[in-house]
Amino acid sequence: MPLVNDRCICLRKVEYSETSQILTLFAREHGITRVIAKGAHRKTKQGASKFGGGVDLLDLGEAVFSHAPERDLAPLCEWSLQDGHLELRQALRPVYLAQYAAELVSMVIEEHDPHPDLFDRLQQTLQDLSTPRREEEFLSFQLDLLREAGYMPSLQTCASCGGAIGDRAYFSASLSGAVCRNCEHVTPDRMEIDARLLRLLQSVINLPRAGGKRVRLPQLTRHQTDPLNKLIADHVQHTLSRRLRLVPYILNGTSKSPIQKSSQSTY
Ligand SMILES: [Zn+2]
Repeated sequence: MPLVNDRCICLRKVEYSETSQILTLFAREHGITRVIAKGAHRKTKQGASKFGGGVDLLDLGEAVFSHAPERDLAPLCEWSLQDGHLELRQALRPVYLAQYAAELVSMVIEEHDPHPDLFDRLQQTLQDLSTPRREEEFLSFQLDLLREAGYMPSLQTCASCGGAIGDRAYFSASLSGAVCRNCEHVTPDRMEIDARLLRLLQSVINLPRAGGKRVRLPQLTRHQTDPLNKLIADHVQHTLSRRLRLVPYILNGTSKSPIQKSSQSTY
């Protein structure tokens, strides 16, 4: 088995036995790779452990592992921590958003499928989440993730009839897109969404880029991002038929969100 060296972000970790960890790593050149870090918590007589005491969720490191896509678990041979994102851990909101970003990536990206541009976006976003720009940068990252995974919903025109959306807007997870007023009554799973928020989302998608990031990103509040994050979460969960574990944490306290399930039509 060839050994490879790659820059990785830890998306998931499970403690395995007293001394080992099973890690889902997002490797820049090798895609998502599951590895076993044997002896991660075992200390030598000098007090040093093989992987610096273990790998933590969201850690960025240079890893050496055996590259064996046909095997379920590749042994992790070396881990050199580059960034433990300590600045993220000073408040709950950035930690939840960062963990949710990791969950989203691990759900929508196939194993062993390299996505170096997305890796760079995640690395950058983990830094941005500890700044006051976190809400808009997180939304921008989710849009890039959806595009990279081929799951971008249709938002410009009605996903049912292809017409313009107008001033009453709906979103249907089953149609993977926005739905107009004329079609909402034949779309049982539609949710009403503030048409201004839908236009905001479209304008963010179309912003120019520099260095991989969107520039001139407007500052957004949770009043704006919560309903859009919910829309994206509903869309991803429906598309993958799987639940995202962290959704309740990032939408916490949003019972008054502008997105509501439409009342049942009477026809
Ligand atoms: Zn329509």
